[in-house]
Amino acid sequence: MFQLKDKVAVVTGASRGIGRAISLALSDAGASVALVSRSAERLEEVSAEIIDRGGQASVHPCDITDGEAVSATFKAIADQYGALHILVNNAGVTRDNLIMRLSSDDWDAPINTNLKGAFNCIKAVVRPMLKQRFGRIINITSIVGITGNAGQSNYAASKAGLIGLTKSTAKELASRSITVNAVAPGYITTDMTADMPEAAKLALTESIPLGRLGLPEDVAPIVAFLASEAASYITGQTLLVDGGMVI
Ligand code: NDP
Repeated sequence: MFQLKDKVAVVTGASRGIGRAISLALSDAGASVALVSRSAERLEEVSAEIIDRGGQASVHPCDITDGEAVSATFKAIADQYGALHILVNNAGVTRDNLIMRLSSDDWDAPINTNLKGAFNCIKAVVRPMLKQRFGRIINITSIVGITGNAGQSNYAASKAGLIGLTKSTAKELASRSITVNAVAPGYITTDMTADMPEAAKLALTESIPLGRLGLPEDVAPIVAFLASEAASYITGQTLLVDGGMVI
């Protein structure tokens, strides 16, 4: 749909769900994709899928909460491909609980992965992107970062933080033709949402104007669009992909 020939992309949380779909979409558009998550085995499966479809992929197991590991991993990716054009900060976790029951560790987990992890990855790409005077950074936030959600104060704070990070870095990096945007999915069917009871899913579906829950494949082409030349005059924005939940 969008042309990403000769571009090199890094996708975090590429082992499953939305990150897997984004990796396939970027590859289908012509990009070489460096796949990052903690599980090498699941990344190998996604890599095999990409290669089967005629694309190029490589596997880079890394915990994005570890700044030094991120820096070494991104250096290895840049050395392997000789460039780094697109970063998709997609890796994320939830630790849901009401604020009165939320432990300090449960507070830290989404902040460290969803927000600090994205910061670690942006730090690792910003110099090469500034040098090449081109870059696309796409942060996967959530509508919960805009609306809030009972039982998700930690997760919502991390996702709202990601929107602030997106806007600020967009302002800092625009003069070098680096765009920074966020994509805010609504409810998407993945491992992250698999535990929701069927009755709750039904009630949720009724609150979605487009009348269905989302799929990873609803989010992936929007990321490919933001990574493409077609989106070169868009920066600092948050695009909602939520079936109209937040109209
Ligand atoms: P999944 O739970 O299916 O996948 C999460 C991904 O993140 C996995 O690939 C996991 O890989 C990776 N990951 C988690 N922690 C780390 C870490 N410390 N270092 C590296 N990788 C890590 O989630 P989804 O696909 O549903 O979500 C993807 C993104 O979309 C998340 O940021 C999520 O917050 C966001 N989102 C999801 C929505 C939904 O309804 N599903 C709605 C709105 C936003 P591994 O375990 O191998 O490390």
